[in-house]
Formats: sequence, C-alpha cells, structure tokens
Amino acid sequence: MSNTLQAIRGMNDILPDEAERWLAFEATVQQWLARYGYRNIRMPLVEQTALFRRAIGEVTDIVEKEMYSWKDELNAEELTLRPEGTASCVRAAIEHSLVYDGPKHLWYAGPMYRHERPQKGRYRQFHQYGVEALGFAGPDVDAELIVMCAALWKELGLTGIRLELNTIGSSEERARFREQLIKYLEGKVESLDADGKRRMYTNPLRVLDSKNPAVQDALRDAPSLMEHLGEDSLRHFDAVKSLLGAAGVEYTLNPRLVRGLDYYNLTVFEWISDALGAQGTVCGGGRYDGLFAQIGGKPTPAAGFAMGCERLIALVQESRRATNVAGPAAYIVWQGEGTGAYALTLAEELRAQGLAVVQHAGSGSFKSQMKKADASGAQCALIVGEDELKSGEVTYKPMRRAEEQRRVPRAGLAALLRQP
Ligand code: ATP
Ligand code: MG
Repeated sequence: MSNTLQAIRGMNDILPDEAERWLAFEATVQQWLARYGYRNIRMPLVEQTALFRRAIGEVTDIVEKEMYSWKDELNAEELTLRPEGTASCVRAAIEHSLVYDGPKHLWYAGPMYRHERPQKGRYRQFHQYGVEALGFAGPDVDAELIVMCAALWKELGLTGIRLELNTIGSSEERARFREQLIKYLEGKVESLDADGKRRMYTNPLRVLDSKNPAVQDALRDAPSLMEHLGEDSLRHFDAVKSLLGAAGVEYTLNPRLVRGLDYYNLTVFEWISDALGAQGTVCGGGRYDGLFAQIGGKPTPAAGFAMGCERLIALVQESRRATNVAGPAAYIVWQGEGTGAYALTLAEELRAQGLAVVQHAGSGSFKSQMKKADASGAQCALIVGEDELKSGEVTYKPMRRAEEQRRVPRAGLAALLRQP
C-alpha cells in the first residue's frame, strides 16, 4: 500500500496557473465592492456550533448533514468550521455593535466548509465572496444588491447568467401558509423522497426547493405562498421589481425559490448559469430581517448575498476560451550585447502605464524565446536585438492576428499595445 499523503477529498490545492486566475478575479471583485461602498470584515473560520444551528436552522441541508463539527475537549465547546459567512458576519456585528451608529455595507471572503459529495462545482472546501448590507430595511437595498451583481457579471465578461427572483414574505405569513402546504404534501406523500417526507412537518417550505425532479413534479399544483402574502410584503416586492425594471435587469419569477437557509424573508434570489452543468447557481441571497434577533441581537433589518468563487472562475475561464482573450499584452524577446537592460527598462516603462508585460527570463535561442512568447498567450512579441538597441526602437510582432511584424519607436509603444 502506498503511504503517500494526499489532500482531503473535496479540498483542492489551487496551483499557480489557476491561482493567477483567482488573483485576477479577486482584484476585479474587490474593486467592484469598493465602488459600491462596501468595506471588508474578516471573521474566524471556526465558530460555536450553536451559531449555525440558530442562524441557518435545524432542518436544513447544511445543519442536518453538511457541517464539520467537533467537540473541543479542552474547553468543552461544540465547534464548527463555518459552512457560510452570514451568520458569523452578523454575530460579529452584534458583538462589536457595528450598526449602533448607522447601517453598514460589509463584505468578506474566504473558504467555507460543507460535507457534501464532491463533484464538478461542488467541493467540501470552497470559497465565497459575501456581501451584507446591515441595518437597511428598504426594497432599494434589495434592488441595489441585485443590480450590483449584474454589473459584476458584465465586468467579468460573463453572459447568460439569469436571475431567479421570489418573495417569501414574513415568518407570520409563512406560518399561515404552512398548514395548507402540509395538507397538500400529505396528499402527495408517496411521491416525496426521504428528505421530503422527513421535512413535510418540520419544515415544509424546504420541500418546495427540493432538487429532486420527481419531487418537483409532485409539487406542480402546490398552493402558492404568494397568495398568502399581506399588503406590506407585496408592496416591498413590487418596489424591488420596479427598481430592477428601471435598471434594466431581467428576471424570472420562481415561486418555488425559498433558498436553503432559514434566515431569509421577503426578497430571495439566485443567479444561475446553464454553462456549468448541474451546479449552476453562482450566487444566492436575499433579505434576512430576523437574523439579528435570532442570534441574540437587537432586531435589525438586513440583506445580502454570497457567490461561489470556484463556479464563477470556471465560468470566466470558459468565456475566455470562447472569446480567446488571455495572456499579457506583450512578451519581450531579447538577444545580444546590452539588450538585457534595454528589455528590462522597456518592460518597466510599459508596466508603469498599466500594461501586463512578461520579459523573457533566462537565455535561449531566438526561436525558443518566440515559442515561449506564443505559449504565454501574449497579444504580441516585442523583439529587442542589437539593431533595435542602437536605433531606440523595438520590433513589434502581433501574435494573435495576421499582421506583419514592423519596427516601431520605443516611445508610443504603450498606445500601440492598447489598440484593440
Ligand atoms: P447549492 O444549491 O448549489 O447547494 P446553496 O444554496 O447550498 O447552493 P449557498 O449557501 O446559497 O449555496 O451559497 C452561495 C453560493 O456558494 C452558491 O450559489 C454556490 O455558488 C456556492 N457554493 C455553495 N456550496 C458550494 C460547494 N459545496 N462547492 C462550491 N460552491 C458552493
Ligand atoms: Mg447546498
């Protein structure tokens, strides 16, 4: 038997090629967050198990079967590796009175842990960016959260991510709906799966968002929660929809969308791509006005969302392949007496102007350097030899289109490289 040690199943190393894509993704995301006035908060990876039980809810996939929990013998505490970030973020906000002087826009990022069956797009350690607007009650915030997602997809060059939207009203409205739903489910009990049967009395709403197609089929004529909503809930939802309309964000109403966590109320939404196979949800969120009180804080309205980095980065990668955009702006090939310093200062000059430039490192024949330039995905090679050095020029060779190479002056190169 081999005794080579390996990473835990469902917990992946991110190797340099991929890590570079992560860095680029995260830079885009963080600039976008700053533009919307969100500020970073960092919580521990480990919390008391009770936090997640109370925040996420006992009868949920996460709490029933996905948490990494253990008893810390030294302190006799039940602890859990965080499966999501909202509970910790709200716990921190309460603990440090973050909203005492007014609402706050916060974001966090990092690994989350869920004991699920690993498959493409579903891991046991995965990463999220979470965005939380704490202390805001109005539908304007729900709409802004959704609009900002749409802006990010655009900035990442992603098309085909659709928005599903629903409202799940208040907990009182859901309680009234519950009885009717249970009655309906009792009539369909033989079509429910084990989860459905177990949950129909403890958390019947959760049966609605079952991923099992047979269960979804049985739910076709289920009563509608929307018809049990009062005026306030409906007005809130109408306002969200009309703001989305004004911003030109398209959506599909999905009355079955209830989300996998108990803390939501009113607006809930998911962004879904069809390009990822079964694991198509890249982002989910909604309003959670009850959560602060549920974990011991002062009642505080709030809304937010979390997006999955692995799935989004896979999408970005797909779309790059399709559009063939990749690689640095230029790869500098250099050979001959004195050309090293010329190449180095040229690279620095271009980088200072915001261009991504790779300078060939180590020696190597002209041919092998050109091969490396091609493999780097660079848009062009900039060739520096003794002739170019003497004349203060560079040989510019486009790599991604049929265009002859030509000598160009060193000054003005940045503008040339920026041309589409
Ligand atoms: P799913 O329905 O795919 O299980 P979820 O509703 O459990 O998702 P959330 O708790 O809403 O997911 O988390 C927000 C986002 O985090 C998801 O939309 C997804 O992109 C990502 N995510 C959730 N679980 C995983 C996982 N096990 N592996 C990779 N990404 C995940
Ligand atoms: Mg899940």
